[in-house]
Amino acid sequence: MSSQQWVTVLGSTGSIGTSTLDVIALHPERYSVYALTAHRSRDVLLAQCLRHRPQIAVLNSAEDGQWLRHELASAGLNTWVETGVEAHNTVASASCVDIVMAAIVGAAGLLPALAAAQSGKRVLLANKEALVMSGALFMQAVEQSGATLLPIDSEHNAMFQCLPLQHRGGLAEHGIEQLLLTASGGPFRGWGPDALANVTPAQACAHPNWSMGRKISVDSATLMNKGLELIEACWLFDATPQQICVVVHPQSVIHSMVAYHDGSVLAQLGNPDMRTPIAYGLAWPERIDAGVKPLDLFQVARLDFESPDEQHFPCLRLAREAMQAGGTAPAILNAANEVAVQAFLEEGLGFISIGDIVASVLDQATIGNVDSLETVLDADRHARQLAQQYITQRCR
Ligand code: NAD
Ligand code: MG
Repeated sequence: MSSQQWVTVLGSTGSIGTSTLDVIALHPERYSVYALTAHRSRDVLLAQCLRHRPQIAVLNSAEDGQWLRHELASAGLNTWVETGVEAHNTVASASCVDIVMAAIVGAAGLLPALAAAQSGKRVLLANKEALVMSGALFMQAVEQSGATLLPIDSEHNAMFQCLPLQHRGGLAEHGIEQLLLTASGGPFRGWGPDALANVTPAQACAHPNWSMGRKISVDSATLMNKGLELIEACWLFDATPQQICVVVHPQSVIHSMVAYHDGSVLAQLGNPDMRTPIAYGLAWPERIDAGVKPLDLFQVARLDFESPDEQHFPCLRLAREAMQAGGTAPAILNAANEVAVQAFLEEGLGFISIGDIVASVLDQATIGNVDSLETVLDADRHARQLAQQYITQRCR
């Protein structure tokens, strides 16, 4: 049994953050919470502080911070409250922290996740956007600091479990033919353009198998999530886009597979519950209870597979092309997508237009080399402005 470890949960009030705290609560002898961070959900953060008693809590605005300080003091808790964007980076890199769960959604999660990677932590990476935006810099930071990077995205976690322990340096070197990235197909699998044109945010956020935050739910519905995951897999496992085959598997029981040169295909199966990859990341290479019910194969009964529909769901192709183009293209794709998804959620943009906006921004923006974090952040800013312009034109 390993000794007590200190954990920072970035984005603790979200879907992944909450599941992480559920797993941690099952193992009080192994894990203590050092810091919990959130954007604005101060009520949820307060409840989490009362339950998990972190040393530090972080919120973005000074006003929310003041409120939380007052509530914590009234409850007799001495949790220290920090505010501001940089406080997330500070608690991700604090010297006493062993494990950082990077579960902020979107580009906002990049700097804190990078801070954890640069300071040599065990980084449990849920925030796929960080790798999509700055894969080369992120992997370099992990290498240089000796951080341990464990993928939490269920597909990448599955691949990690099916790969040889030492898998860096190119798939072919390790006898690997292909990575089979599974996709549920989302709530609109099989739908045609007429039906897709009228999709509402509520429909897009009702995923058939997984319960997730709103942004990733929309990404799953457009298949952009699979595109972002393809890019994520390229960076994590030194793969090319051609070495990754997306397989639609509507039951979400196989979480991904690795095909070897000798014809073997290894798969990881389980109920669609993020507590499994989270527990794996927390305890690796040990296995601990995740609170997940065992998989009942007789109840599952059948597993189906089909090809993705890239004609009606162009985002997967756009992401693959952005990875092939390289440089800042994936950061541009990601930024345009975040702005378009936000506009869709606020009911200002049609579902089908999300892909159109991303395509237009990729066409228009200048793709540069990623030589520093600044170039990535500049590309992100510029792509957001372009996307906003296209959306304003469309919605006028
Ligand atoms: P969510 O929307 O439920 O939660 C997001 C969290 O990030 C919240 O705690 C929120 O307060 C915080 N946050 C949002 N904006 C912020 C900002 N500007 N600054 C600081 N904190 C901010 O999202 P989620 O579904 O938990 O997803 C989190 C990440 O994990 C995403 O990158 C997603 O792609 C990835 N992921 C999620 C799942 C899942 O099942 N939910 C699965 C795989 C990967
Ligand atoms: Mg996933």
